[in-house]
Amino acid sequence: MRLGVMGGTFDPIHHGHLVAASEVQSLYGLDEVVFVPTGEPWQKADKQVSPAEDRYLMTVVATASNPRFTVSRVDIDREGPTYTIDTLRDLHAARPEDELFFITGADALAQILSWKDVDELWELAHFIGVTRPGYTLSESGLPDEKVTLQEIPAMAISSTDCRERVADGEPVWYLVPDGVVQYINKYALYTRSEEGKPTTT
Ligand code: ATP
Ligand code: MG
Repeated sequence: MRLGVMGGTFDPIHHGHLVAASEVQSLYGLDEVVFVPTGEPWQKADKQVSPAEDRYLMTVVATASNPRFTVSRVDIDREGPTYTIDTLRDLHAARPEDELFFITGADALAQILSWKDVDELWELAHFIGVTRPGYTLSESGLPDEKVTLQEIPAMAISSTDCRERVADGEPVWYLVPDGVVQYINKYALYTRSEEGKPTTT
């Protein structure tokens, strides 16, 4: 199986994530794309992040209708901060026959060289860096044969913007799937904290 891996905080999952996964699935003939919500994202350790269970459930709601999309708990069930190397090791251990394609936006790709055990990353997966409005997609410093750059339809959406919109009482309809709008409302996510500050990164 050719298995796409879409890692993210997904706080909340939005149509930028879904378009990226769908485009790469189709263009690279992937059998499945597994979405992997992070446990404690180490890059965001100083920021407030919604409970893993909420982010996991929103990801399930958002992907449920696509037969090629699945969601994995490997990162949220592992103790401690999430490192992509551990995500890929766990997925590889669970499905040793599968060829892994890690999907990442231009902003995250730019940081990849700072990731833990970067050399082993290249052995475990092929990396597909997708375009993202506001960021430059560049492979400088990354091994050519291990990284592919891919232009995808531009979706100028970020989870940070979605959280700020909810905190400000502005709509997130059509930026996130309908079920995610309803989940956010049902559990009152992203409302302002007592200090009057939105919980944003
Ligand atoms: P935040 O604002 O909280 O950082 P985000 O919108 O950047 O949220 P993440 O969960 O941090 O979403 O991103 C997960 C992955 O999806 C990353 O690889 C990121 O680059 C990619 N991604 C997020 N939004 C887009 C988008 N609009 N277009 C393409 N890729 C995206
Ligand atoms: Mg981000």
